[in-house]
Amino acid sequence: MKTFKTAVLTGLLALISHGAMADAQHPKIGFSIDDLRLERWARDRDYFTAAAEQLGAKVYVQSADANEQRQISQIENLIARGVDVIVIVPFNATVLNNVVAEAKKAGVKVVSYDRLILNADIDAYISFDNAKVGEMQASGVLSAAPKGNYFLLGGAPTDNNAKILREGQMKVLQPAIDKGDVKIVGQQWVKEWSPTEALSIIENALTANHNNIDGIVASNDATAGGAIQALAAQKLAGKVPVSGQDADLAAIKRVVSGTQTMTVYKPLKLIASEAAKLSVQLARSEKPSFNSEYDNGSKKVDTILLNPTSLTKDNVNLLVDDGFYTKAQIAGQ
Ligand code: BGC
Repeated sequence: MKTFKTAVLTGLLALISHGAMADAQHPKIGFSIDDLRLERWARDRDYFTAAAEQLGAKVYVQSADANEQRQISQIENLIARGVDVIVIVPFNATVLNNVVAEAKKAGVKVVSYDRLILNADIDAYISFDNAKVGEMQASGVLSAAPKGNYFLLGGAPTDNNAKILREGQMKVLQPAIDKGDVKIVGQQWVKEWSPTEALSIIENALTANHNNIDGIVASNDATAGGAIQALAAQKLAGKVPVSGQDADLAAIKRVVSGTQTMTVYKPLKLIASEAAKLSVQLARSEKPSFNSEYDNGSKKVDTILLNPTSLTKDNVNLLVDDGFYTKAQIAGQ
């Protein structure tokens, strides 16, 4: 009898801790972030936490520091802690199917944040339109250098966004390649989106091409920073157009000073607050509204896609109007 009672109690406790009897007014949300080293992710974390708390949720944040094994254990810990929803910025898109299955078995909803988790039974995806970001990057470089030798500096090979960005870039570049105006002299994926890796890739590309590179389509601001450092060493910074994305503060300063041609502004407060709303709706078994769908290899994932904005020197003030930076931050040394 005693063992029966214990079993019932244990079962009940498991139910409570795994969300089946969760408090809908105060859902628990886990936020598993790949890597807090890059400026944007700390802002995503802060905006997300603030928005979710406003909606009555409690948020538990974990950062995997670009380590896939650590990310898996952290997600397991969040499941054990009894969260209702886990929001994940995956480091490696392709290794999370088992842990996502564990989450689903425990009744936990899973949201893929900014980067799509592949081959896993996730509940929703929210991101900016990455194909559009890629198109903006290529258009930005192409309008500054309509002809010449191009180098394509891709994102991390473990990040599905890197591939979508490249598809967008190629959509814009292909006609210029077909006309013979643009020649791709090299392309490489940058491990972990690392600026130092980008620096050495561009150093080598400049050497191999005797500095005859006329445009660099970089997939984010961090890698653009590395590329521009390599250009600067050859006195080419500001002469060779370079793209980016994120509107990192250092990149905005480069755009203003002319060493980086453009960046793409993705309002992080918007994605974070939409993701918080989406997570709370899933926890409360309400129906979120989606505007897109992505096949992640195992299912068609309900998706919210947000709009990015291309930024050059000419419209950089948009960031001030939007409250992303102050004028003083942009002008600061
Ligand atoms: C994000 C970018 C970011 C990059 C590196 C991508 O998945 O969309 O905003 O710069 O990862 O963290």
